[in-house]
Amino acid sequence: MTNEELWQKTLDEIQCEVSTANFITWFQHTIITEQKDQNVTVGVPNAFVKEWIESKYQKPILKIVRNFIPDIRSIEFSILPKLSQKQQPLSVVKKQVPQEQQEIQELSIDRETNLNPRYSFDNFIVGSFNELAYAASQAIINNLGAVYNPFFVYGGVGLGKTHLLQAIGNEIRKNNPHTKVKYISSEKFTNEFITAVQNKETNYFKERYRAIDLLIIDDIQFISKKVQTQEEIFHTFNTLYENNKQIILSSDRPPKLIENLEERLRSRFEGGMIADISEPEYEARLAILHTKRKEKDIIITDDILEYIAASIKSNIRELEGALNLIAVRLRLQKSSLSLAEVKDILSKHIQPRKVVTAKQIINAVSKFYNTQEKFLIEKTRRKDIVKPRQIAMYLLREDFNGSYPYIGQKLGGRDHTTAIHSYEKIARDLKNNKQLQEELKQIRLNFYYNQD
Ligand code: ADP
Ligand code: MG
Repeated sequence: MTNEELWQKTLDEIQCEVSTANFITWFQHTIITEQKDQNVTVGVPNAFVKEWIESKYQKPILKIVRNFIPDIRSIEFSILPKLSQKQQPLSVVKKQVPQEQQEIQELSIDRETNLNPRYSFDNFIVGSFNELAYAASQAIINNLGAVYNPFFVYGGVGLGKTHLLQAIGNEIRKNNPHTKVKYISSEKFTNEFITAVQNKETNYFKERYRAIDLLIIDDIQFISKKVQTQEEIFHTFNTLYENNKQIILSSDRPPKLIENLEERLRSRFEGGMIADISEPEYEARLAILHTKRKEKDIIITDDILEYIAASIKSNIRELEGALNLIAVRLRLQKSSLSLAEVKDILSKHIQPRKVVTAKQIINAVSKFYNTQEKFLIEKTRRKDIVKPRQIAMYLLREDFNGSYPYIGQKLGGRDHTTAIHSYEKIARDLKNNKQLQEELKQIRLNFYYNQD
């Protein structure tokens, strides 16, 4: 059997096993380069794909290959950078839905579960940025209520929390349509509860929620400050939990940073599995764009996708938005777009990062480290504020673009060498201190998303 035949047959089998999104992401631009001494070598386009396929697909691939050539003992992967430029068409069976139907899907939210069928694992790309959350989801789907309860997912806007939560719900219903699933935002939950109180229907409300097998509450950070609502959530939570019913929550921050949250609720939220979704890395952004291009049938070249992936870093919603802009333009002008035209379209629409003030940075830092703003600003040598002050200096430079003399002056009336020293120290520490990276992420979340 030739290399091509063997690989095509293998790919056909793999395609039945994995989602279309993952199939395109990981198997596009792959070929068999050699069959020799009972070993098959598969060429892949880059190190990222190599690592991923090796860790996730090596065994299944070997198994499939051995169905065709039983002598084969091992599979190896080697990087062939040219592959991605060759534009090898990958024959994917089209599972795709036409545009109008997609719009209808938006409207076909299930009344009982509130789930939108658009969110599935078929169109969900997994990369290292969301791998943990994804893996936990799969475990939960296979053992509803029995592992990771509650499951708490957090991450910034547009990174795929809602998509993941709803995909879990949809998958569960697909496997067993009788499972009682309810997806709800925390705001809607609060409103329903308040209405029930007003109509003296709280018993009915309670009964309804307590009969659920899988309760998904999205954006729990918006939970009402009202003691009574939190009390109700707490009781609902306990009843479900005690009956081994699954609870899944999402938030833009970890439980310990949700304000106005009762302590006992917080500790309940922290009692299961917490997974974060971070910003997708370049390769994942590119992979997402590849699948969306296919889904939406947009005709643009790889170098344009690469440009978009390189220029939009913050979140997936914006990546999609950029692609939609281009799709609209393509439909209007009915000819292909050049890279220069795409750059032009995007430059008019990409939002610059939210502007942040020095005051907001100082406020967020002092809040996070539980100290007072005045200690950061005043000339004191208290030991416990050395670190917060260095971090504030770092952020004033990095996110506010302050000059070193300004920063030194602003924080404790130091001279610019102190500011430089602090900036460099934090920048150095950040390279291999995971804890510090997380702290900075949380502080930034606070000042980028909490501005009123
Ligand atoms: P969040 O709830 O975190 O704000 P969403 O779940 O609404 O983010 O995701 C924003 C958009 O990006 C949605 O259209 C969603 O379908 C898409 N998206 C998010 N994560 C992924 C992913 N891993 N793969 C493909 N598309 C994704
Ligand atoms: Mg959301």
